[in-house]
Amino acid sequence: MKAKTPRTHSPSVKIRQTQMLIDGRFCDGVEGKTFATINPATEEKIADIAEGGEKDIDLAVKAARKAFAEGSAWRKLAARERGRLLFAWADLIEKNLEELAALETLDNGKPITASRTGDVPAAAAVLRYYGGWADKIHGQTISIPGPYFTYTKREPVGVCGQIIPWNYPMDMAAWKVAPALAAGCTVVLKPAEQTPLTALRMGELAMEAGFPPGVLNIVPGYGPTAGAALVKHPQVDKIAFTGEHKTAQIIMREAADSLKRLTFELGGKSPNIVFADADMDEAVEGACGAIFSNAGQNCCAGSRAFVQEGVYDEFVDRLAQRTAKRKLGDPFDPATEQGPQIDRAQFDKILKYINLGRQEGARCVTGGERAFDRGYFVKPTVFGNVQDKMAIASDEIFGPVVSVLRFKDLDEVVGRANNTFYGLAAAVWTRDIGKAHAIADRVQAGTVWVNCYNVVDTAAPFGGFKMSGMGRELGEKGLENYTETKTVTVHLPA
Ligand code: ADP
Repeated sequence: MKAKTPRTHSPSVKIRQTQMLIDGRFCDGVEGKTFATINPATEEKIADIAEGGEKDIDLAVKAARKAFAEGSAWRKLAARERGRLLFAWADLIEKNLEELAALETLDNGKPITASRTGDVPAAAAVLRYYGGWADKIHGQTISIPGPYFTYTKREPVGVCGQIIPWNYPMDMAAWKVAPALAAGCTVVLKPAEQTPLTALRMGELAMEAGFPPGVLNIVPGYGPTAGAALVKHPQVDKIAFTGEHKTAQIIMREAADSLKRLTFELGGKSPNIVFADADMDEAVEGACGAIFSNAGQNCCAGSRAFVQEGVYDEFVDRLAQRTAKRKLGDPFDPATEQGPQIDRAQFDKILKYINLGRQEGARCVTGGERAFDRGYFVKPTVFGNVQDKMAIASDEIFGPVVSVLRFKDLDEVVGRANNTFYGLAAAVWTRDIGKAHAIADRVQAGTVWVNCYNVVDTAAPFGGFKMSGMGRELGEKGLENYTETKTVTVHLPA
């Protein structure tokens, strides 16, 4: 029997902003279209949002171009002052933490505790981190043979089109815009159609912080219309995208004509490797967080748990028991650990994979169905007896479903862990430091965690090997995406 969706604790969050931000002003789209953003916990409409199309993107790109032109207020601003604007914006985000957290939870469905303690503070931290970099972007002096003085400068790339997904709406916005603005670029940001609310409110706060008009433009809309128009626009110098690898392939083809700079952060099927000598309490808890945090809607989710044969059965039992205790429910209840999936399409896709897992002979140990009669809730699901070839073990499900696979030894598990076109993240649980380093060395992944999972910080680079991405975000590395290196060589008269 399915329980009714629990009583909602949802506060009455004021939706302050539903229009697009172009050239420092909030406005409706040229064609006056809107689209609805939906509360995934109730399936009800939250608000109608201005829908950007080709013409709006064109206006936004032209505003960003003008703001980037030589002699503009933005180009004349000292690097340190760009940093100061990012600090001021971060301060305003923290000042409005409760409102932003409520908006994020309303629009995305993630638990309010996560929004309050994770997403919103992390977005502010990213803005501040790159604010600190703004006046530390240096070139080099290089000695070459002959009577020459050679140095490099790092100049901003120009107008950046940034396209983000719905799983961490505020953080994805911050990851994209902060390094771009720190480097002196201008931006047209397209939030995901499922979650436009926090990006628009962040835009208001950016204007309050004092960014000049046109430096940051935000155009909500759909991927194949607004997103595609941004990718095709001849006056956009760079596209930064986070989402599915199939969308990245479309973007890469579209961007080929103008050879736009591209960076991608894409999906994963990340291996979470548990050796028999691991601390089992920590490994079980870690595996649970690895897959179920953010309702499994996480590009680096530990969706393939490889467990060594001696402890496999015990591990599956303990993981299932722990998983069954997870508290699903109203995202506004501070005790809730897992909210709904983002939308009907994801909900249907996840349930389809769960059925496929059963049909292919895997054992559904816990979960395996929707929760409640309303909202896109899926019970956290553990599959045992999974084979590598099964769809649940090879496709990215982007939901709360973990495949637990049995392995014998290190060589075998490395081969199987790497047998995927993804390479975003991996983790290893062991008390043996040698094994931990061997895994870190041999697994093809942009991030490897040892006896922990999902530890992502603004100071450390993040991104994928293979089809999980191109380039790195965060850290000093993340700045490189937004600068062009210019080499200047001066002939020194004798
Ligand atoms: P997801 O399945 O997580 O929604 P997508 O790759 O479809 O992943 O979407 C991520 C972002 O890419 C969203 O902002 C979406 O609107 C945008 N997008 C989708 N299709 C395109 C496209 N053809 N061109 C540009 N952007 C797109």
